[in-house]
Amino acid sequence: MQNLTILGSTGSIGTSTLDVVARHPDRFRVFALTAFRQVDLLFKQCVQFKPQYAVLLDATAVAQMRVRVKEAGLQMEVLSGVEALEQVSQAAEVDAVMAAIVGAAGLRPTLAAAKAGKKILLANKETLVMAGNVFMDAVKLSGSALLPIDSEHNAIFQALPRGYDGDKASAGVRRILLTASGGPFRNTPLEQLRDVTPEQACAHPNWVMGRKISVDSASMMNKGLEVIEAHWLFNASADDIQVVVHPQSVIHSLVEYVDGSVIAQLGNPDMRTPIAYGLAYPERIDSGVGSLDLFKVATMNFVAPDFERFPCLALAYQALRTAGTAPAMLNAANEVAVEAFLDKRITFLDIPKIIEQVLNQLSVCPVHELEDVLLADAQARTAAAAKLG
Ligand code: NDP
Repeated sequence: MQNLTILGSTGSIGTSTLDVVARHPDRFRVFALTAFRQVDLLFKQCVQFKPQYAVLLDATAVAQMRVRVKEAGLQMEVLSGVEALEQVSQAAEVDAVMAAIVGAAGLRPTLAAAKAGKKILLANKETLVMAGNVFMDAVKLSGSALLPIDSEHNAIFQALPRGYDGDKASAGVRRILLTASGGPFRNTPLEQLRDVTPEQACAHPNWVMGRKISVDSASMMNKGLEVIEAHWLFNASADDIQVVVHPQSVIHSLVEYVDGSVIAQLGNPDMRTPIAYGLAYPERIDSGVGSLDLFKVATMNFVAPDFERFPCLALAYQALRTAGTAPAMLNAANEVAVEAFLDKRITFLDIPKIIEQVLNQLSVCPVHELEDVLLADAQARTAAAAKLG
């Protein structure tokens, strides 16, 4: 029986995780669930999964949740704040933590889980983008098991030899092929991109996801963040990682070996597959995902990414090559710009412009500890906010 903390349980990954958990009551027990402010859904989840703790960040939501928990007579505590997120991530009773908070807010609790040696199911790619070396050092020091949940990284993990330790040469790995759907604007005429709305950006052709990652997919910043994520997870340089646009999202990524073999992982585009893989690893369990119908897929296409159409992808490669605090700044500027786009304060094409200006304006420093990252994150947020007008 594994005791789970699910960070971001009310989100897209969080609800998919609970869907898989509910199929296996003999294997998983829920210790803690967390959200930012969605009281109704969090309460419903607490009634169903009976965790010991629920954590919310928004003060009004905390008060409302406490009243509802009391009225329902649930035997659990409602906590608030980032410290509480850390507490439920590192508690002695917890075996595994699903890190599914969106954005930089996921960093501290995910790092707490790593320091405490928990098995980490990593959906929050921003943790690795911002603080890759700090996080990977914590994982190594504590002996945490780190299982990538992002479908591409989960695919690469599955295609690599079991026990791969980052030594590409001895594993015979030549390069990583990271697939990308190309998002909803893959074929949109360039002159129309200026006027696309948040609703259009969030209407992903293959995946149902939270709003922030949906916009990132539309700009291909998501793929850029994933290149950086793959760098840290698999010890691959920017030159070792080739992005391949594959609009059907059936091949979730591939690993090429020195003998010319290419091993891919395929499946329906449904996050419950990588989530179930991470939850049960090294076993396999039912995820609720149906069979892949290759006859229905029929055709698979592959094209090179268009860096002119998707400047965010180029900016992410550039930040990875620059290293130090550059990826944290890229991530922070992107979060500010995406939020402004979702609020209809800037256009879609302003997103890469703002990020580029921030990266050009600020000095990059080496990352020795978490504080270096947090400082860079704060500086980039301030610089990006100043450009919103
Ligand atoms: P969602 O926006 O759907 O959910 C985000 C979750 O985080 C919600 O539970 C939300 O609570 C909570 N949250 C938001 N802001 C804060 C905050 N400041 N502090 C604490 N909790 C917060 O996101 P997704 O599920 O789409 O994505 C989660 C992570 O997984 C992201 O890092 C994303 O990149 C990654 N990922 C997602 C995939 C997907 O298919 N969705 C695929 C691969 C990776 P509330 O509901 O109360 O707002």
